[in-house]
Amino acid sequence: ASKLGNDSAKDQSSQYKNGTFHVSGDIMFSSTCNIVVDHKWKATCDRHLEASTHLEKKKKMGPAAVSSSEKKTVQQEIRKVVLFNLVETFTSANLPLNALDNPALHSYLEENLKSMGVIPTSQWLHSEYLSKVFNYHVAEVKKEIS
Ligand SMILES: [Zn+2]
Repeated sequence: ASKLGNDSAKDQSSQYKNGTFHVSGDIMFSSTCNIVVDHKWKATCDRHLEASTHLEKKKKMGPAAVSSSEKKTVQQEIRKVVLFNLVETFTSANLPLNALDNPALHSYLEENLKSMGVIPTSQWLHSEYLSKVFNYHVAEVKKEIS
């Protein structure tokens, strides 16, 4: 299998799973180790992937670490939407945001809305979300007019 190919670094890297190698110019790097791997030899690439230094690094970086941070981002995005909708609901119902600081309402919402998590103070919601909700509705109205 150790034949000298004429493949470019790009061709060679494309034979591997996405994220295994990355290419810069005609130089191929192990994305895990960030070191140059001789792309002209497929056997060299294969051997690198089996090398203990590579496997150690891979284990440390771990696909689990990546997916858990991705999961976190998704949860953060969901939370943003939830908080946005909360502010939107209150403003459209003409309810003051500081009603959210009422302990009874506060804990009711936190307990009954699974994706809510901890509700920030009305002051924070006011500064972070009210303008977003407002801009969103202005954009919506503009869309309808045009
Ligand atoms: Zn490596």
